This record gives sequence, structure tokens and C-alpha cells, in this order.
Amino acid sequence: MADRVLVIGSGGREHALAWKLAQSPHVKQVLVAPGNAGTANNGKISNSAVLVSNHTILAQFCKDHNIGLVVVGQEALLGAGIVDDLMSAGVRCFGPSAKAAQLETNTSFAKAFLDCHRIPTARWKAFANPQEACSYITSTDFPALVIKASGQAARKEIIVAASKEEACRAVQEILQDKVFGEAGETVVIEELLEGEELSCLCFTDGVTVAPMPLVQAHKRLMDGDQGPNTGGMGAYCPAPQISEALLEKIKDSILQHIVDGLRQEGATYVGVLQTGLMRTKDDVKILNFNCHFGDPQCQVILPLLKNDFYEVIQATIDGKLCSCMPAWSENRTAVSVVMASEGYPGDYAKGMEVTGLPQAKELGVKVFHAGTTLQDDKVVTDGGRVLTVTAIKEDLMSALEEASKGVAAIRFKGAIYRKDIGYRAIAFLQQSVGLIHGD
Ligand code: AMP
Repeated sequence: MADRVLVIGSGGREHALAWKLAQSPHVKQVLVAPGNAGTANNGKISNSAVLVSNHTILAQFCKDHNIGLVVVGQEALLGAGIVDDLMSAGVRCFGPSAKAAQLETNTSFAKAFLDCHRIPTARWKAFANPQEACSYITSTDFPALVIKASGQAARKEIIVAASKEEACRAVQEILQDKVFGEAGETVVIEELLEGEELSCLCFTDGVTVAPMPLVQAHKRLMDGDQGPNTGGMGAYCPAPQISEALLEKIKDSILQHIVDGLRQEGATYVGVLQTGLMRTKDDVKILNFNCHFGDPQCQVILPLLKNDFYEVIQATIDGKLCSCMPAWSENRTAVSVVMASEGYPGDYAKGMEVTGLPQAKELGVKVFHAGTTLQDDKVVTDGGRVLTVTAIKEDLMSALEEASKGVAAIRFKGAIYRKDIGYRAIAFLQQSVGLIHGD
């Protein structure tokens, strides 16, 4: 019997999750709570106003509406134990328990875990006392320092300190002035890693690890990786920069090691695990974890999944991932370009009409909505990141070309987007060709 699925969230990631789930013959309807204009009355997909922060109300809603599966894409809910609560109320929910989600919600837990399992990461120490933190800062030989609040906060950014004085000031702000609230009861002080950042994700049922193709997301606002950090301005998949041999090592040893380590510590991880990797000049190191698909990583990975996504999720929850291993489209590259509102990631206006969506569709691109809403049957902007234009083609250059045509077709007042998505991969591929031809 076909199932009803509830996807929680309102971003481009959730639109992509709903889109992929709706392709399954096992899925009768996908509700997205709260969703956006792209998930409103779109074939099998529609929006729901159910309150997701109250897990008791949510569990009852799922029972009343015959929801057979809940898919959660946000760390705050995972950290608040949504999976634990729904599963114990008898509602199937995809994602890690709050204990396992600590990899993302508690940076000092994640760093201690990595050290304990000898998995390479930036050198670090955690402190709750500002004086001790500053003495450590003064004693380090790190060329530059990164200061992070260890916990979960609605809006939390890492601080890259140009000097030791600046690092001490950041520590004071977090520990004493509580700029990040309770999330800043502990600070993590790390060495700044230099290199290229990539994301390696996997499905895991707690034992089996099924890696996904490597992704590169562009976090900075402006071309050339300049400007402030954002949620992500674009991505492409697969990223060719890491050799097959190294990638195998990351998948087989690092990802499997993490999953085995968590299980041994009584925090069995079930769901999607995203690792942020820094390819430094001498090694690949783990930067951070996300306990779900990243956004925009999700929008470039899911189009390449050949299997029925619903079946993969169910097998993962049931601990039977090895019987439903995901397969990925070969000779296909996906590129996503995020279109955002002028002013993002700071303040921005809302309510700008978005036009050109049918024209973009005709060009063959897939548009995943994020900060959009419907007003008098018109799509208008309603957030910082407004939508993601995704193109899937036989190679990176063709996908980039198609994505940029899709972006050009879509208009709203003050639209901003990056024009250099994939530039590192292009440079890498050109260099590889140069090496082959002996240039
Ligand atoms: P986090 O807050 O740990 O999730 O990190 C957010 C982002 O900050 C990462 O995706 C990186 O771009 C950057 N970042 C975090 N830690 C470091 C580090 N030690 N060195 C360089 N960049 C970092």
C-alpha cells in the first residue's frame, strides 16, 4: 500500500527531498511542513501547517493523517530529539537520535570523538573558563585561530581571528557576553586549516555505510570565494578534485570508522551523515559534521541517485541498508546555483515577484524553491536564499552552461547569485589535462 510521507522544513533541500520521494511508486503523497511555494500543490506534494516543535502534537498528527514516514532535514529538531520522540510514539522517522546528532550539535563532543578514534582534524581545545581559554590562545603556535561556540544556536558563526588579541576578545564575547546564548557555554579553539573544502556524505544504518559522490559547495557570498559565509551559494557533484584512491580511503576508513565508533559508544547513527573535509596540502582533515543532507549539497546529490529514495530510507531505518545499496548515475554531473535576495546573508526585502519559472523549466533545469511563498497565486520572495537552479548533464561544463541559462531566465528584483560555481573543479580539470599533455 502506498504511503504518506512528511518532510519537515522549508528550504531548497526539503523541496529536493520531497521531489525525490514523490518519484517513488510507494509514495502516495508528500506533505512538507511548512514548505514553500515550490512544494505547494505540486502534484503529489503539498504543504502542511502542522506544528513541528511539539513532538506530541506532531506524533498525533502523523497518526491521524496516516503518515508512514517522517524525514527531518534540520539539526535543531534532531538535536531536540525529534527522531527519538517520534520513533517511541510509533511513527517512523528518518534521521539520527539526539545522542548521535551530537556530532553536529556539540562541537567539543565531535572533536573529542575524532581524537579518540585518531581521525585527522584541526588541533583544538575546549574551555568554559575565559582566562584558561586566553592562556591557551597565548601559548598556541597555530598560524591563525578559529573560535567556535560549542553548542547549537539559531544563528552562530565561527570567528576567524587575525590575532591572538582578537581571539581572546571573541572568547570573552562568547563565554561572558553570551552572544550565542547557551550555545556558548563552552568555546572550541581550533587551528585555522587552509585548503579546499569538500563534502563527503553517506547513508548509514549504524553498521553499513553507503557513500555518496563527493560534493563541493560554495559557502561564500561572492565570486572567488570572497565575502561573508552563507548557508551555501551553489554546489556541484561529483567533485573530481580528490583521487579515487584517497576517496576510497575516506569512505572505507574514515566514514566506516566514525559509524563503528559511534555504535561502540552507544550512539548508533542512523540517517545521512555529512562530513565537511578540508583538503590541506598534506592531508584530508575533518572540519565538521552535519547530521542530515546539507543545503545545497542535497540539491546536487539526490538527482544522481538511481534507486528509489523511499526504499533506501526504509532499508536504512530497518538496519538493512546492505540489501538496498544506493547506486549513482555515472557520467552525469549536477550543478546548483542559488539565487538569493539582495542584502543576504544580512537583512533583505521580501515580497518581490519571481518570474520566468516556466521558461526555466522549458530549458530543462530543475528549480528547487527555498525562500518563496504564494501571494495572490504569484510566487514572491520570502527569504534570503530564494531558490536553487539545478542542471544535470553529461559533464560539468554542460551542466554549468545549462544552469546559467536557467538562472538568466528567472527574475526578481535584487536577485544575487554567483557566476563562478565549479571554478575550482574547472581549474583542476584544466591542470589535469595540462599534465597529461605535458604543458
Ligand atoms: P562549523 O561551525 O564547524 O560547522 O564550520 C562552519 C564552516 O567554517 C566550515 O564549513 C568551514 O568553512 C569553516 N571552518 C570551520 N572550522 C574551520 C577550521 N578549523 N579551519 C578553516 N575553516 C574552518
